[in-house]
Amino acid sequence: MKKIALITSGGDSPGMNACIRSIVKTCLFYNIIPFGIYDGFQGMIDKRGVELGYSDVDNIIYRGGTILGTARCEEFRTAEGRQKAINFLKEESVDGLVVIGGDGSFTGAYTLGKEMSIPIIGIPGTIDNDIFGTDHTIGFDTALNTVVDAIDKIRDTASSHHRAFFIEVMGRDAGFIALNAAIASGAESVLIPEELTNIDKLVEEIKTQNKGRRSSIIIVAEGDDGGGAKEILEKVKPFLPNYDLRFSVLGHIQRGGSPSALDRIIATRMGSYSVELLIEGKSNCMIGVYGETLSTCSIESGIKEHAVPEQSKIDILKKLRTQ
Ligand code: ATP
Repeated sequence: MKKIALITSGGDSPGMNACIRSIVKTCLFYNIIPFGIYDGFQGMIDKRGVELGYSDVDNIIYRGGTILGTARCEEFRTAEGRQKAINFLKEESVDGLVVIGGDGSFTGAYTLGKEMSIPIIGIPGTIDNDIFGTDHTIGFDTALNTVVDAIDKIRDTASSHHRAFFIEVMGRDAGFIALNAAIASGAESVLIPEELTNIDKLVEEIKTQNKGRRSSIIIVAEGDDGGGAKEILEKVKPFLPNYDLRFSVLGHIQRGGSPSALDRIIATRMGSYSVELLIEGKSNCMIGVYGETLSTCSIESGIKEHAVPEQSKIDILKKLRTQ
């Protein structure tokens, strides 16, 4: 292992920089050249990469986003696009590749792995936490804290004005952010893609919540089957004519910001481990973390199995609901 390439791909997430830093420093520790490729798979196709040194990763551990940039690359979905990427890796004499990204990036990595002999390690980097094979993805903890902070602020104004607020959070396919934010913020209701939304039931819940209370917070995952926060509000409105209903879409603030200590630690550990796995001759596996322990499973199982939130977290919200 003389040269390891790394990319950040898909949606950016806080902690990606901590992971880049850790990969670069671990490579240098083992006298391996770290080769950063810009803008994910797009940079592989466009042949844009640079050898990285200590000074490139100075003071980036606390910064959100990714210094390598990221992209969603349609061309990489084609065999021709991937061949260009493979040619670039060969031209640069790359011996191993680390892909930091979400399940889409892992699907790209898995497909690429079947078409070339260069070993690949996947590191789960997405705010959504929707990857099988790990308790935490890099960025989830920071995004969750950003969401809870925003909900607390909305709660202040909601209670002052006696309002019910529908707050939309990220989560196209999974309700990890919504569910965990609901527990942490004491939200009255939560709508997640894992459960069918029943508007009649929601209306009854809001009426019950309203008894003796000054506010209701209903968290809506963007991928909920009933629609986003605005759509849900429109659906319940005719049944709640005397209620002051508002919605708020938290949007991209959920992606940004300085990573939490937990995300920095997970990112640093996973980044260093990825280099060691490549040195050991491992390939086509992704890194996960369970409790305090790092683990690996095949990238294939990471993308083929579906990550779902803990049922006990769904159950606890039902028990704490106002009756
Ligand atoms: P996030 O969950 O944060 O959005 P992600 O990694 O899932 O991150 P995607 O946009 O789904 O983000 O995927 C990133 C990139 O991975 C895509 O733009 C594409 O280049 C590549 N990719 C995704 N699916 C495939 C596929 N089936 N074949 C080849 N490449 C793919």
